[in-house]
Amino acid sequence: MIQFEHMKKSYGVGADAHEVLHDVDFTIHDGEVFGILGSSGAGKSTLVRTINLLERPTGGRILIDGVDISNATGKELKALRAKIGMIFQNFNLFQQRTVLRNITFPLELAGKPKAQRVARAERLLKLVGLEEYADRYPSQLSGGQQQRVAIARALANEPKIMLCDEATSALDSTTTVQILDLLRRINRELGVTLVVITHSLSVARNICDRVAMIDGGNIVEMGETAELFANP
Ligand code: ADP
Ligand code: ADP
Repeated sequence: MIQFEHMKKSYGVGADAHEVLHDVDFTIHDGEVFGILGSSGAGKSTLVRTINLLERPTGGRILIDGVDISNATGKELKALRAKIGMIFQNFNLFQQRTVLRNITFPLELAGKPKAQRVARAERLLKLVGLEEYADRYPSQLSGGQQQRVAIARALANEPKIMLCDEATSALDSTTTVQILDLLRRINRELGVTLVVITHSLSVARNICDRVAMIDGGNIVEMGETAELFANP
């Protein structure tokens, strides 16, 4: 469970401070696919990046499973980030590492022994349907395949939460549907809670159980996807 309690975020300090999230107060439940919808600059990325403290709140609190993470540092911060996978629009793979070594990277950080890292990466490659591609480099793969590698890497430490920042925005419509299917399987079969940023209503309709619409740093609407998008 991810609870935002009157959470605020400003960039800059003093006279330059600029508040981009004003009073975010809602809860994402375990096992949900939760969509964050809004136009460019609305604050979607900033909101989602506070969950793993890539951005730190400047007011209010965030609780994960009842624990206030807002001030986590050092070991706590490392443990938090390990529990939360993240994927991006442009995949953010390591170009100098093979597919296998992209996926083992978080396990290296976690200090897992090599045999365990490789076994885990091979299982994940199978999960995302890329078992033949372990020794390729990212530049040798299509966009959809690169996003599958990024998904496998995000799952390496068995996170309970995965953050998806415009994960299908760089993909064509057929590939988008395939990646959304994979994300839904990860949600249903592994029980991973997904927080999905999108500017696309069709992505939200396809995969999200609930959505929050954000505009100018405020949540302006929230509800079940089926109800919000029902035609009157
Ligand atoms: P979205 O993801 O909805 O496009 P963002 O969260 O990226 O929105 O941005 C929200 C607002 O915060 C925008 O006005 C943006 O310019 C500003 N912003 C984002 N990141 C930074 C930063 N690192 N420093 C200063 N302002 C930022
Ligand atoms: P099994 O019983 O064969 O482990 P699961 O459906 O539980 O089947 O898991 C399938 C694969 O997904 C296994 O490799 C498992 O380690 C991995 N897995 C399970 N839970 C998670 C999770 N939360 N995040 C990432 N991978 C996971």
